[in-house]
Amino acid sequence: MSILSNQLPTAELQALDAAHHMHPFTTNDELKERGVRVITRGKGVYLSDSEGNQILDAMSGLWCVNIGYGRERMVQAAARQMMELPFYNTFFNTTHTPAIALAAELAKLAPEGLNHVFFAGSGSEANDTNLRMVRTYWAEKGQPQKSHVISRKNAYHGSSMGSGSMGGMSYMHEQGGMPIPGIHHIDQPDWWAEGGDSAPEDFGLERARQLDAKIEELGAENVAAFIAEPVQGAGGVIVPPATYWPEIQRICEKHNVLIIADEVICGFGRTGNWFGSQTLGIKPHIMTIAKGLSSGYAPIGGSIVCDEIAEVINAVEFNHGYTYSGHPVCAAVALENLHILQEENILDHVRDVAAPALRETLDVLGQHPLVGGVNVCGMMASLPLTPHRESRAKFAMDTGTAGFMCREACFANDLVMRHVGDRMIISPPLVITPDEIDVFRTRALKALDDTYAALKDKDMLKPAA
Ligand SMILES: *Cc1c(COP(=O)(O)O)cnc(C)c1O
Repeated sequence: MSILSNQLPTAELQALDAAHHMHPFTTNDELKERGVRVITRGKGVYLSDSEGNQILDAMSGLWCVNIGYGRERMVQAAARQMMELPFYNTFFNTTHTPAIALAAELAKLAPEGLNHVFFAGSGSEANDTNLRMVRTYWAEKGQPQKSHVISRKNAYHGSSMGSGSMGGMSYMHEQGGMPIPGIHHIDQPDWWAEGGDSAPEDFGLERARQLDAKIEELGAENVAAFIAEPVQGAGGVIVPPATYWPEIQRICEKHNVLIIADEVICGFGRTGNWFGSQTLGIKPHIMTIAKGLSSGYAPIGGSIVCDEIAEVINAVEFNHGYTYSGHPVCAAVALENLHILQEENILDHVRDVAAPALRETLDVLGQHPLVGGVNVCGMMASLPLTPHRESRAKFAMDTGTAGFMCREACFANDLVMRHVGDRMIISPPLVITPDEIDVFRTRALKALDDTYAALKDKDMLKPAA
């Protein structure tokens, strides 16, 4: 295979990819027409592709490369562990030092009372674990009927049957028989798109109180848990109004409903603290982790579990686990990532340098005629595109058309911003410097200008009726 590695002409790589590789969340036939982009290298915040472009990655891969690309220490950590013990399971009365050390380190970093870790290979797997764990917890407490889980529309919790069902993406639910029974969805706290004329604070309370109503409707004795991302990521970086989470917390406590905070994006510095729960003032019983846990250098996820649940689950055989739960190489890589985050004071860099600089740049981009506002929390942000800033109007044409055009314009300007519908998403490596944020600003402005010109040219700037 080494012959394949970046040595074939791009067209040949594209042809082979189209012939054999089925991409996730993609219409593969369309991709074949368009030609896939071949990414060959990464260093710091930059990617290279097979055509030699130097692309600033304002998405950290897929929200995960928090420490940036090309870290020698991560390579060494993986190599050392592969030589020593590439694999062993943690099922049969056995363990190994990487899993021990990583679990202990996570317990140290997590908020008080969250001291136990169940490992998975990904965020999706971890959320499936959580679903089974909270149900098992209540069953062991003599309340097997307390099994329903409430989530939110437009949430993202993964793509497996359990996690995809807890997620609230309607286009995912259209395929493959989701959601599975026992999962319910309330509206999201998306003031920008759904708040209308209400004040954000009022809107936040109103959306939180939907949880109260849903619990009452189902009966609190039947509701196991509420699951949510502190700040919705894949849904479009939806930062809830300040009133939202305190009210959610109060409602869950009132009804004795567990809180699962899905920290897969928010965790490991993205919001300026170790966990989004700390930034948003949430006291979760379980936190889902993945992505930034290893900065994407190896696939690993998990659940950080509170003492109370762990005590109950640890008293029985929990018939659940993955071959790669606590995989030694992935665990060693994740541990090295946590060491780098700490030794380089990357959270301080986020709080004192990167997040303020990003904020400043976003405020500039937010003045662009195509941009209707700025949603930002630390190092995750979105810019909603709109044909009419004052009314936060949607486009008359299909949602996502303008967003897609803008994403392509970004690529053409050597910048990765993802689009979710008509929102442009920004989630750069946490180590990004102010100079690199300036490069981001220049390229993003150019991409917005190009998109605006193209939309205007094609008379596509009409607001929805
Ligand atoms: C990405 C993501 C997941 C799923 O993680 P995978 O590793 O892709 O399975 C779950 N929750 C959130 C909030 C995510 O962003």
